[in-house]
Amino acid sequence: MTSILEFDEDVEMFRSVVSRFNAEVVAPQVEKMDEEEHIDPSIISALFETGLMAVETPEEYGGAGASFTAAVAIVEELAKCDPSVSVLNDVHNTLVNTCVRKWGSDYIKETYLPQLSTDKLGAFALSEPSAGSDAFALRTRARKMSDGDFVIEGGKMWITNGAEAEIFVVFANAEPEKGYRGITAFVVEKSWGVKVVKKEKKLGIRASSTAVLAFDEVRVPKQNVLGIYGQGYKIAIECLNEGRIGIAAQMTGLAQGAFDRAVSYVFNDRQQFGKYVGEFQGMQFQIAQIASEIEAARLLLYNAARIKEAGGEFVKEAAMAKLIGSQVAEKTASKAVEWMGGVGFTRDETVEKFYRDAKIGAIYEGTSNIQLQTIARLIQKQYTLR
Ligand SMILES: Cc1cc2nc3c(=O)[nH]c(=O)nc-3n(C[C@H](O)[C@H](O)[C@H](O)COP(=O)(O)OP(=O)(O)OC[C@H]3O[C@@H](n4cnc5c(N)ncnc54)[C@H](O)[C@@H]3O)c2cc1C
Repeated sequence: MTSILEFDEDVEMFRSVVSRFNAEVVAPQVEKMDEEEHIDPSIISALFETGLMAVETPEEYGGAGASFTAAVAIVEELAKCDPSVSVLNDVHNTLVNTCVRKWGSDYIKETYLPQLSTDKLGAFALSEPSAGSDAFALRTRARKMSDGDFVIEGGKMWITNGAEAEIFVVFANAEPEKGYRGITAFVVEKSWGVKVVKKEKKLGIRASSTAVLAFDEVRVPKQNVLGIYGQGYKIAIECLNEGRIGIAAQMTGLAQGAFDRAVSYVFNDRQQFGKYVGEFQGMQFQIAQIASEIEAARLLLYNAARIKEAGGEFVKEAAMAKLIGSQVAEKTASKAVEWMGGVGFTRDETVEKFYRDAKIGAIYEGTSNIQLQTIARLIQKQYTLR
């Protein structure tokens, strides 16, 4: 048997493309983008031009027709350099492209996949002020008009890529009296009237936009209903189950990025008491512990990806990968700051940013409590005899 961490040629090819992309395109801008809380538009264009924004999209729609594992490997690799660029790519690929590819009619696929492959950024708009962990408490309404078209009225919050996106997957309730069974998903173009009301100022992933959106009587043609009318809740659940593997990848990459920087520093750059600080056993044991935990997070990540790719039940494994990935990222980035001493605490060093960026892993696409709830529910189901 070979290691689960050995990948096919396609995946390795994407990894080396992203590694070069990080060094040449992303790294020179990371600090500036974090300070300015803004993603440089040239990075978004370069992601499209390099073929990283339509990984699983079939070639007939302008995509690479590659695997889910390739998509998450790209997210992991980008996060080693900048978790903000990583989540931009992740939301576009694993949420938006996936929703359109899996649930879109021929019309929707033919209209939007080529745009999402070439230059139009996507966003996934589910959360609202009143609907976070309880996502189906959403209050945005879709009113059906006499000609069959819809008018969307309401507001969304916390939308990643919200400031730059031109194509939105939007969840709105068309029949509130039916509860969550009234929730319907739509593909909405920004030019139809989606307004960016505010960009949040955040602790971490500051270059990634997180927007409040307003839908003020936005008219959406009936052919832009995504999937079956009234089954938007299913699309949201299925998409987020899969998307969690993407966040696990972002967190694993972040941990590796922080580890790489700090470990190189302790073995090459800093001496105390006449030795490189990495040579003290007190440091070596910590480094060994963290290296083992990153390996564990990566194994959970690619185990979940492999089960999903094979068409198996992966919900528990995806929740575990995200839960542990976010914990390992936080711990690794914290240790990396400590290992670099005062230097690690300054904004001149990337580990300070990784430490701030790590916190989001325990919050979005389901908080850690929600992951634990999912894991516990599935364990209970497995062990209950009655
Ligand atoms: C930077 C950022 C980007 C985001 N991007 C997107 C996006 O692109 N699209 C989108 O739709 N949403 C997005 N979100 C929203 C994100 O998914 C929610 O923030 C998340 O689901 C948590 O919801 P909440 O913030 O309302 O927290 P709440 O649901 O209010 O949770 C508060 C606390 O209560 C706990 N809690 C809640 N319910 C339970 C329960 N049943 N059992 C135990 N504990 C519970 C939570 O674990 C948490 O600790 C983003 C959020 C952020 C911060």
